[in-house]
Amino acid sequence: MSNNTVSAVNEIDVAVIGGGQSALAVAYFLRRACIGYVVFDNQPAPGAAWQHAWDSFHPFSPAQWSSLPGWLMPATSEAYPSREHVIRYLTEYEKRYEIPVQRPVQVTSISQRANGLLLSTDHGEWLAKAVVSATGTWGHPYIPEYPGQADFGGEQVHSAHYKNPEAFRGKRVLVVGGGNSGAQILAELSQVCHVTWVTLEAPTFLPDDVDGRVLFERATERWKAQVEGRPDPAPAGGLGDVVMVPPVREARERGVLKSVRPFVHFVNDGVVWADGTRSQADAVVWCTGFRPALEHLRPLNVINAAGRVDVMEGRSVAQPGLWLVGYGEWCGFASATLIGVMRSARSAAAQIKEYLSSFEEQTA
Ligand code: FAD
Repeated sequence: MSNNTVSAVNEIDVAVIGGGQSALAVAYFLRRACIGYVVFDNQPAPGAAWQHAWDSFHPFSPAQWSSLPGWLMPATSEAYPSREHVIRYLTEYEKRYEIPVQRPVQVTSISQRANGLLLSTDHGEWLAKAVVSATGTWGHPYIPEYPGQADFGGEQVHSAHYKNPEAFRGKRVLVVGGGNSGAQILAELSQVCHVTWVTLEAPTFLPDDVDGRVLFERATERWKAQVEGRPDPAPAGGLGDVVMVPPVREARERGVLKSVRPFVHFVNDGVVWADGTRSQADAVVWCTGFRPALEHLRPLNVINAAGRVDVMEGRSVAQPGLWLVGYGEWCGFASATLIGVMRSARSAAAQIKEYLSSFEEQTA
């Protein structure tokens, strides 16, 4: 046994890190291929990022278009499923396919050993032949830097931790960010307080009849073009554009769906705009998105300058035995959505099957 070889107490073929839709979709295909695996999730209960969304959070795809492989999401009487409906579906999905999830288990680091990849967790060490990282972005909220931010005396909360408008009743609030989170949070805050919506540029609102279905179809077109070597059809409208779910439409009817360009710096009691005028503010809600949660991969030296991993069809270019699923378009078109992750998950499981056969040959 080389010094670099560990005989870990727990040895497995595949470790899947995460416990959200991406991890479950990978689990489905690994199970179908009769590959042994364990899922590690740091949350105490199923549902992953969906558990933490604000109370009125609206997915933008109808239930039938929010399904993971194998089992359709049960239909809802409302046009779009609620957050609770999605959490129930993910919970039942785990049971239905007997997915072995260890939780709450935090994977703190992954490092290369001669006989596999060693996972260090807060519940011991595991040695895996292959690893799928499906840790999403929720754990890594992004807030842009503005001068004077530390001097601002008001409250600051990221959409990752925003729950409902009650705490902001009657206050002057800046909602920063022009995507779906910004639009949905602005819509409900504007009913109880004075809100200014700050966006880098004028937000792109999709037509009322465009929802997750259409966005997924567009993503599929782009994927097909790539597979067939055709030019990218570059359809107008991406997953970051604002979907006109009912509360956002209602905000438009009230005339509050208007945004201004960013302020230049903070002061103690508010912000200063580009023309030098000042506005007082009691709070800022940052709807400025997320970055991939990849801290556990740091020892492998695979994280690039953009905070991502270079992948080819989801497989790390630099690190044998490592796949990334979910996260965003860089992991596959629409791979950060319930229905869109199926393609990436199926492909990862098929590649892993091949990899495990060659792994056995090499170590025999
Ligand atoms: P997550 O759900 O974040 O799951 C990752 C899990 O891994 C989490 O439990 C996390 O805590 C855990 N984890 C992280 N690091 C570690 C670690 N080191 N060790 C162990 N566990 C770890 N998507 C749709 O499909 N349809 C929609 O209609 C839709 N609407 C949306 C509307 C809005 C306003 C927004 C903001 C998003 C919407 N999304 C929608 C996107 C969707 O919510 C996310 O993209 C999705 O949660 C990603 O799933 P995931 O499994 O990749 O990651």
